[in-house]
Amino acid sequence: MKKLIILGSTGSIGTQALEVCRRDGYKVTALAAGSNIELLEKQAREFKPLTVAVFDEQKAKELKIKLADTNIKVLSGVEGVCQVAEGEGDIVLNSIVGIAGLRPTLSAIDAGKTVALANKETLVTGGEIVNRKAREKGVKILPVDSEHSAIFQSIQGAPEKSVKKILLTASGGPFYGKKKSDLENVTVKEALNHPNWSMGAKITIDSASLMNKGLEVIEAVHLFGLPARDIEVLVHRQSIVHSGVELSDGAVIAQLGTPDMRLPIQYALTYPERSNFAFEHLSLADIGTLTFEKPDTETFRCLPLCIAAINEGGLAPTAVNGANEEAVRLFLEGKIKFLQIADLVEKALLCVNNKKEFSLDDILATDKAARELVRNYI
Ligand code: NDP
Repeated sequence: MKKLIILGSTGSIGTQALEVCRRDGYKVTALAAGSNIELLEKQAREFKPLTVAVFDEQKAKELKIKLADTNIKVLSGVEGVCQVAEGEGDIVLNSIVGIAGLRPTLSAIDAGKTVALANKETLVTGGEIVNRKAREKGVKILPVDSEHSAIFQSIQGAPEKSVKKILLTASGGPFYGKKKSDLENVTVKEALNHPNWSMGAKITIDSASLMNKGLEVIEAVHLFGLPARDIEVLVHRQSIVHSGVELSDGAVIAQLGTPDMRLPIQYALTYPERSNFAFEHLSLADIGTLTFEKPDTETFRCLPLCIAAINEGGLAPTAVNGANEEAVRLFLEGKIKFLQIADLVEKALLCVNNKKEFSLDDILATDKAARELVRNYI
């Protein structure tokens, strides 16, 4: 029985991962979350992990009191979350949101654990360092993001260097078909109303702005080693073709399925094996029509800004990611307008103090500077 450590267990991916564990009988050895100790306590009592960690120090103290009648160890802060990532377990599923996931991913790799990675910001900001460390330690990074899982599934059995192009699909989000003038006064509620997927707030806003697709282009560059020019983004409203590849002989191979994150989560946990999927299966006859079109990059500027950032390289992707995280937070708090997210991401890209060679400290400093730039601007 595989032993799992789940980081971000109280979120959208984390709770779906626990559903898979509940059904398939994985042993959960550790859990971590940001501050939602009510749900974390319930999860801890059900799955009986050895350790739990809470990023928020005060909430960790409260959880320690709540779990005093158990043998579960409670850790706190970023160090506690990293310690959990290094603890007993075969696979670390990282479903923390944002750059907060980067250090725990590095800890998991240092400890030689397979990483099932949903936290795309890990690769957007630390892709070079993560890949280098994973190679040194012989650690596998298995994608959980549905598009990257689809690409990964599509290349199983493909000869090395035969992938010519990645086809990265995008639902288009709630504002598909809208122009800039339509988006000037959109509300948080409208932006959170995703047509096909139910996800955490940050990624849902990123989907509305197409920042999510930009982050995924960067993620794909690091996972599959192709430059951004060989990644074609296609708007596919039905979210059935989760992404694919074109091989050197022109064959196009893609993975299709219902829009259900439990499938890519399950695949990362069973890889290279497959197990039965207990939820709804795809009926193509019911879907009927699949459509594909180019994205509107004039309206949804975050996508080309992310591509510019990965083409520039170095710390530029960290700067756009940090600015976006801060801008999304401000948008959710009602302090800025939706279209300002792209403006602020662009400012961060223009202002980044870039370097080709950089350390983890440089990444964290760039993230901080990009956030400050956003806060100072408004
Ligand atoms: P949620 O906001 O639903 O959940 C985020 C999780 O991270 C929560 O458990 C939260 O804890 C935890 N967390 C936040 N900050 C910290 C911290 N500093 N230390 C430890 N834990 C922390 O996000 P999602 O599940 O939607 O997304 C998670 C990641 O997966 C993101 O990177 C996203 O892009 C990616 N992803 C998500 C998909 C989806 O369908 N949701 C699809 C593909 C990728 P708390 O609840 O206590 O705040």
